[in-house]
Amino acid sequence: VHRELTMREIPRRDLLKLASLAALSSCCPEPVPPCTAGEWRNAIGSLHIKPGMLSAPSSAKELIALIQAAEKLNKRVRMTGSGHSFSDVALSDDYMFLPTGLSQPLPLRIVPDRLKPQFAADRTLVRVPSGATISAINSALDQHEPNLGLENLGGYDAQTIAGVMMTATHGSGLAYGPIAAQVVAFQIVAAGGRMYQIERTNGISRAEAFPDNKGKLEENPEIEFELVQNDDWFNAAAVSMGCMGVVYSVVVKTVPKFWLREVRRRTSWSSLSANDGYLSKLMRREKLTDKESDPEHVEIYINPYPSKIDGKDDHYCLVCERYRLSEPPNPTKENQKRGRVGEGQFFADPKLKELAEKALVDLLNNKSKNGVRDLLNAMLWILEDEDYTNVSYRVFNIGDINRFRMLGIEMAFPLAETIKATELLFKTAKAQRDLERYHSCPVTLRFVKESSFHVAMQHGRPTTMMEIGALLHARDSHELLENYEKVFIDKITGARPHWGLDLSILKSEQKVKDLYPEWPRWKTVYEKLNASGVFNGRLTERLGISR
Ligand SMILES: Cc1cc2nc3c(=O)[nH]c(=O)nc-3n(C[C@H](O)[C@H](O)[C@H](O)COP(=O)(O)OP(=O)(O)OC[C@H]3O[C@@H](n4cnc5c(N)ncnc54)[C@H](O)[C@@H]3O)c2cc1C
Repeated sequence: VHRELTMREIPRRDLLKLASLAALSSCCPEPVPPCTAGEWRNAIGSLHIKPGMLSAPSSAKELIALIQAAEKLNKRVRMTGSGHSFSDVALSDDYMFLPTGLSQPLPLRIVPDRLKPQFAADRTLVRVPSGATISAINSALDQHEPNLGLENLGGYDAQTIAGVMMTATHGSGLAYGPIAAQVVAFQIVAAGGRMYQIERTNGISRAEAFPDNKGKLEENPEIEFELVQNDDWFNAAAVSMGCMGVVYSVVVKTVPKFWLREVRRRTSWSSLSANDGYLSKLMRREKLTDKESDPEHVEIYINPYPSKIDGKDDHYCLVCERYRLSEPPNPTKENQKRGRVGEGQFFADPKLKELAEKALVDLLNNKSKNGVRDLLNAMLWILEDEDYTNVSYRVFNIGDINRFRMLGIEMAFPLAETIKATELLFKTAKAQRDLERYHSCPVTLRFVKESSFHVAMQHGRPTTMMEIGALLHARDSHELLENYEKVFIDKITGARPHWGLDLSILKSEQKVKDLYPEWPRWKTVYEKLNASGVFNGRLTERLGISR
């Protein structure tokens, strides 16, 4: 993935910004990290913003000082992760904090005496700084004694742990919620610079170890935080798109290291969606295979354009199944190789990737209708594989496609609506194709357990997530994706856009309220943690909920 955060020098003539920075420094009781004015871009460069200030706080003390100073100056603050969202969730016109200062050391310290007895010796609880990337956490867990892993992951690993929590980022598998469901506690700096440690009502900490609910920060006893063990707070703040404060650290419940065997086979939409077909069984939660255990993780890739299969109009699809293994397999030539081109490192060289991306854009922009259909069928063919086995995090990561500057949206549907939503996809793809707007890759379906987080896309129902991608520079990619978001929200009851893989489509509080029954509970916690309005940003403006 093309990742670039540019921080240009402050232009000397930009007196306004300099004045604001000077005021900020004089207002901070503690030395603050270097602040700069400049431009921030998201990972693929689809969003640009010039906030009043960019800074990378590197300790809780600095973070608190910066938030308090911003409040005094009536400025707004937003923490970004690695910039892998396409919506405005990470944007603030005032101050933006970068995650790089809060990414080490990894892992952070846990004080066993503060934990309930059943957790005191639990080596699978791991505390990490909020700016650590999933990739860095995977490596640290792999080297940890004992070796550990994250229970489930999305298709990529460059995002930060706080970034994935905040937008309910997910992988696939109906036994697994969004990644935030692996979090058991987190420390967050809210309005007033107050730090809270938020856990579920029956959380991991021993309340008696926190007199008056107060605790001292593990890294710096000068800093005090309040322990809040409350399901409502947890369900609201863990998925809150940066609107309730800046997460400082996160405790994750990990699992012993495991391996995954991945099987990908091509099939057709008519067989998947038939009454006794794979997808119909999956929707009814019936046994999928005749093997002793079904795969824990299933993803389905679909060509939205029809092909003739067995003489009938149909769609090529690919079913990707992943089986968990507790022991590493014997490496063989077959199980080491993924798909027909290898393990997702084909485009690791940036030059090669750039050339390929340009060729693909040219191809898409000049292709005949059938050419694009054939290109997508070829991609499914390339992905097909009887056995790829590796350590879990290598298999969860879908590889090369993440390297391209691909704009994406993802919609969440009630599981029961999967076939209806996919048939609407086919209809819409046809209409968009008539306007010469093309998909750049197959569409993916993933399946996620229902979630208790108030505004997670998976809230309250087992969910099908449908991801649609288009190369950033392909013709009308934005229009294509925006059209899909509109059609799905309009035509499928309960269709919710992913908070990060979205083009900022929800434009009022009422729209969010209609989609999320627990919105009023989320809002109550939001009003407390963002009491001063310091965490307002582009998102809260768009929804009309700025304080
Ligand atoms: C190549 C690629 C692959 C992807 N794969 C998947 C996938 O498999 N599954 C899926 O569900 N999504 C996926 N996404 C979407 C992505 O996971 C989310 O948009 C995620 O939120 C991005 O995390 P980030 O660290 O880049 O955070 P950003 O995009 O920078 O920020 C996301 C949100 O987190 C907030 N935030 C970040 N850090 C903090 C903090 N410390 N405290 C408080 N708030 C904070 C920001 O304010 C913002 O609201 C993918 C995106 C890309 C570009």
